Amino acid sequence: LPASGDAIRQRFLDFYAARGHKILPSASLVPEDPTVLLTIAGMLQFKPIFLGKVPREVPRAATSQRCIRTNDIENVGRTSRHQTFFEMLGNFSFGDYFKQDAIKWAWELSTLEFGLPADRLWISVYKDDDEAFAIWHNEVGVPAHRIKKLGEDDNFWTSGATGPCGPCSEIYYDFHPERGLSDVDLGDDARFIEFYNLVFMQYNKTEDGSLEPLKQKNIDTGLGLERMARILQNVENNYETDLIFPIIEKASNLANVSYTLADESKKTNLKIIGDHMRAIVYLISDGVFPSNIGRGYVVRRLIRRAIRTGRLLGIKGDGVGNLEGAFLPILAEEVINLSTNIDPDVKTRASRILVELKREELRFVLTLERGEKLLEQLLTDALSIAQENGTLPCLSGKDAFLLYDTYGFPVEITTEVADERGVSIDMNSFEVEMENQRRQSQAAHNTVKLAVEDGAELTENIPDTEFLGYDTLSTKAVVEG
Ligand code: ATP
Ligand code: MG
Ligand code: MG
Ligand code: MG
Repeated sequence: LPASGDAIRQRFLDFYAARGHKILPSASLVPEDPTVLLTIAGMLQFKPIFLGKVPREVPRAATSQRCIRTNDIENVGRTSRHQTFFEMLGNFSFGDYFKQDAIKWAWELSTLEFGLPADRLWISVYKDDDEAFAIWHNEVGVPAHRIKKLGEDDNFWTSGATGPCGPCSEIYYDFHPERGLSDVDLGDDARFIEFYNLVFMQYNKTEDGSLEPLKQKNIDTGLGLERMARILQNVENNYETDLIFPIIEKASNLANVSYTLADESKKTNLKIIGDHMRAIVYLISDGVFPSNIGRGYVVRRLIRRAIRTGRLLGIKGDGVGNLEGAFLPILAEEVINLSTNIDPDVKTRASRILVELKREELRFVLTLERGEKLLEQLLTDALSIAQENGTLPCLSGKDAFLLYDTYGFPVEITTEVADERGVSIDMNSFEVEMENQRRQSQAAHNTVKLAVEDGAELTENIPDTEFLGYDTLSTKAVVEG
């Protein structure tokens, strides 16, 4: 059943509309919630209702929420299922229906509406949630061996140290049932994909850590649109779905490479561009402009990573002949073309988005070119020192790191250029420098959780953070003061 991404989104919303849900628009990527940097889940716009701070307007709602999860940036292109930008389909109950309906509808949607074979579906429940286990097993009829009991880390949602919380239950699709029933690991990306997460908000966690039942029980769910599209379109990964692939095709045209024939590293780079371009366009459309702090830093980092990745793939200038030109706007146009059913506002903001991208790219390319000059100088020096000492020419890890960190110079490019001149790079000391930086940025993160699994992201107590280099990949969270 090859359903388009647009059709899947619509069918999800229609399915829940037919079951009494009010269809509401996606909220902005810039959340109203001041404790959160970016919108990471569909529930965020309803958090005040779930917390009992504002009364509900309707008992049930469903949305398709655009989300950004920068904590998944290292997974992009490397796992088959993670993007930084994705759409989360969600159905919500505000003190209305609970576990039984949520489970039955999720199953009906998956098997009848989307036609997934029941024997390919695996379930996870929280280890102590006997009620959920019983509904899946006795009422839905899922055999016990396909229901996995998982612990707190995976299957218990909290929104903080105290307050509403509860167990989750997830649905996974099995791409390789022939691999058998022993040693099954639902986290195995090559075999399974988690596509639907149901959160049963049924407790209030009190100061002393005990769980008391909530009077008003809520349902919060998330179904990854690209993941469902990946399953139904029968492609290898989320990037090859019709929601993302046209951007990748455009990038491969500009780079003059064929995605199908490309090796794994080129493929990964094309996927990174496909993902980052969407994140960039939707962030700017929601008013997040490149800067050195907060959300602006997130978008700047994504932009620079996309440019760098494009250069690694061999895209020069605008990719279509103008060496002084910019290629991000060309890719952004593709994203904008695909945006109609994701966010109709994007098209009205197109020219602003394109202008901003062009300016940011041209500016960054100047820095990169300064780096090229510096590299040239460093190589000349290395060669003459080697000649004087009768040693082999080598560039220090410190210099390679300076190029990387300050001039945005990927070490792959440094290596390639150096190679052409017969200069090697001290990769061991480069790795040491990288590790130092990683450790430093991690130390800065210890108080910061950009994304709490399955829930809200709390970014209280985060100081302004300077732009520390152009590409620290870890989940640096920075908020505007
Ligand atoms: P995973 O374990 O695969 O990282 P998750 O448990 O972190 O997923 P949830 O927080 O439960 O994800 O979000 C609900 C749903 O949103 C997931 O079941 C999945 O379908 C989708 N989703 C989550 N993160 C991503 C992502 N980075 N890219 C695409 N879809 C995602
Ligand atoms: Mg998970
Ligand atoms: Mg989950
Ligand atoms: Mg995750």
